[in-house]
Amino acid sequence: MATISQNIFLTKKEKLKCTSCGKKIPVGKSFVAESENHKGTCFYCSPFVGYVMLPSGDVALTRRSKKYSTLCGVVLVWNQRRKRYERKGQLVEQIAIDKARLECEKDQAARNLKNKKAAVVRAHKDREYTFNFAMAIRNRYPGCPKDREFEIAMHACEKYSGRVGRTADAKKFDSKMIDLAVEAHIRHEETNYDDQFGKGKGKKQIRAAIKPDISSIMKQWKQ
Ligand SMILES: [Zn+2]
Repeated sequence: MATISQNIFLTKKEKLKCTSCGKKIPVGKSFVAESENHKGTCFYCSPFVGYVMLPSGDVALTRRSKKYSTLCGVVLVWNQRRKRYERKGQLVEQIAIDKARLECEKDQAARNLKNKKAAVVRAHKDREYTFNFAMAIRNRYPGCPKDREFEIAMHACEKYSGRVGRTADAKKFDSKMIDLAVEAHIRHEETNYDDQFGKGKGKKQIRAAIKPDISSIMKQWKQ
């Protein structure tokens, strides 16, 4: 049976009251939320008294200790900079942590190997993706100088690493994405764009000035 999870907010406002004992919950203290919005109890009226805090970070330990605990309280703390609650850890039973830790120790080697293999597969996929992106550039810009497609693809894939949709199929590369990568490359490699900064002109102005040069090179490369 899956362990029931409950959110525990470390409060950032003073207005919250415990629905059980009626006491105000001081800022920064635990507010154990019930299913309904803005309703919940203080820590002492919650079922988590006696539970132990397991900080976030170890994925396997987190998952397993939750599995073995009767309840799991997800402790959330407000991040002012990002304007959102973030996971700090979870409250679970000590016995669940002990059991999970034992299990993790037992298969640590196997999990390390699995992670290593996954990293190798990811690196291989990244290379395949870059190669296919280069092919797509060559297709769309057949007049592009020799081997330049690889330079552009590598740079773009580095820059957008993890952000671009990882379709390894060259036919599925978006033409707009290709154009942007080629345009950025030409701007830095084929124009005097980078030398124009610090001479009193703004970025917008510089970009506008070199736009015709870029367009004309892109046209040449398309043929
Ligand atoms: Zn209370």
